[in-house]
Amino acid sequence: MTLTRAHLLRELELLPVWQQRKTPKNLAPEPSVVASTAEMLAVVEHAQTDNGLPPLSATLGQGRRETIMQMDWQSLQECVAHCEACSLSKTRTQTVFGVGAPHAEWLFVGEAPGAEEDRQGEPFVGQAGKLLDNMLKAIQLKRGQNVYIANVLKCHPPENRNPQNEEVAQCEPFLKRQVELIKPKLIIALGKSAVQSLLNSAGTVTALRGKLHDYHGVPVIVTYHPAYLLRNLPDKAKAWEDLCYARSTMQRLQLAAPPPSTA
Ligand code: URA
Repeated sequence: MTLTRAHLLRELELLPVWQQRKTPKNLAPEPSVVASTAEMLAVVEHAQTDNGLPPLSATLGQGRRETIMQMDWQSLQECVAHCEACSLSKTRTQTVFGVGAPHAEWLFVGEAPGAEEDRQGEPFVGQAGKLLDNMLKAIQLKRGQNVYIANVLKCHPPENRNPQNEEVAQCEPFLKRQVELIKPKLIIALGKSAVQSLLNSAGTVTALRGKLHDYHGVPVIVTYHPAYLLRNLPDKAKAWEDLCYARSTMQRLQLAAPPPSTA
């Protein structure tokens, strides 16, 4: 079942909270007050912290995960935008949810937003992003067209430091739910952090590339992160092999399950 906003609010015991009062006779009706999930969550967050309690988003634990797993796309976006589950919320400019077609067949997963992504709110817009766009072009793909791009972390780690385990753990349900809702045919894990998070593996990219892996039933292909390729140009040839492998794998997947006919 997909959780609607109303379901979600009830689940969090936030409904009924703001109800429209009965309109007294001869008075113009008040504008109805419709609170978004994010607004509701923000109210509860403030109530918690005003009372000296840790933010709700950090304390929900298993309940938080289950709630996220039932969110629809819009609720998920709002939840990410207001997330305070780890300390990156204090240093970010904004969250970076992802970009692209919500039902794309291709999902590319990177590590975390860099400084430029933090400014613009879109993944892979810096130098590494230019290379990623070229990699897409090499296999006749384009950002936003049957392609979705997301990161393991939705917030920029200061100084571009590596993601910490706690940050990955708090962000993991968001990526999992994105995958469930996008339903991609194929995931491309870009670099070590994506590999660790999606495959739960400490193996290196070099060891894991060239094989088909699995993320909750979705095939995964591993390749080098574009930022790594910018520093290690000779490995671009290996990334090209990975892209060719990904393209032929996608062709097989499309033959096995063609998109429903619109005729
Ligand atoms: N590197 C990433 O992993 N993701 C981005 O969005 C940008 C750079």
